[in-house]
Amino acid sequence: MFDNDCIFCKIIRDEIPSVKVYEDEKMLVFKDVEPKAKVHLLAIPKDHFKLLSEMNEDRAELLKYMLLKIPEIAAANGLKNGYRLIVNQGDDAGQTVFHLHIHVLGGET
Ligand code: 5GP
Ligand code: ZN
Repeated sequence: MFDNDCIFCKIIRDEIPSVKVYEDEKMLVFKDVEPKAKVHLLAIPKDHFKLLSEMNEDRAELLKYMLLKIPEIAAANGLKNGYRLIVNQGDDAGQTVFHLHIHVLGGET
């Protein structure tokens, strides 16, 4: 499932350019265009859904899959000494792109 108006769905389909660092059939990881840390990656499921609050069993499986992959992707991108994961949920958290994404931030030292 994808959303025609969603910028992250467009990134998945290469309709908007991005610097991709990892991709498989379920997920994509690319560099944030406005990095808030030395390394700032965005991990997204290829299946479009907007919010953490739209979680269901299938999406939780997808999120689990992503969480199992992120440590190796982080290490491959130089984050040997740690990193932070952030999911912004909704307007009050400052969520601006409504396709679920995990921020991977690190490399400050
Ligand atoms: P949110 O505030 O929704 O949690 O985070 C959305 C993130 O997506 C922001 O950090 C923003 O810089 C990033 N972003 C927005 N548009 C694009 C884009 O077209 N390309 C890339 N690579 N990142 C984007
Ligand atoms: Zn989307």
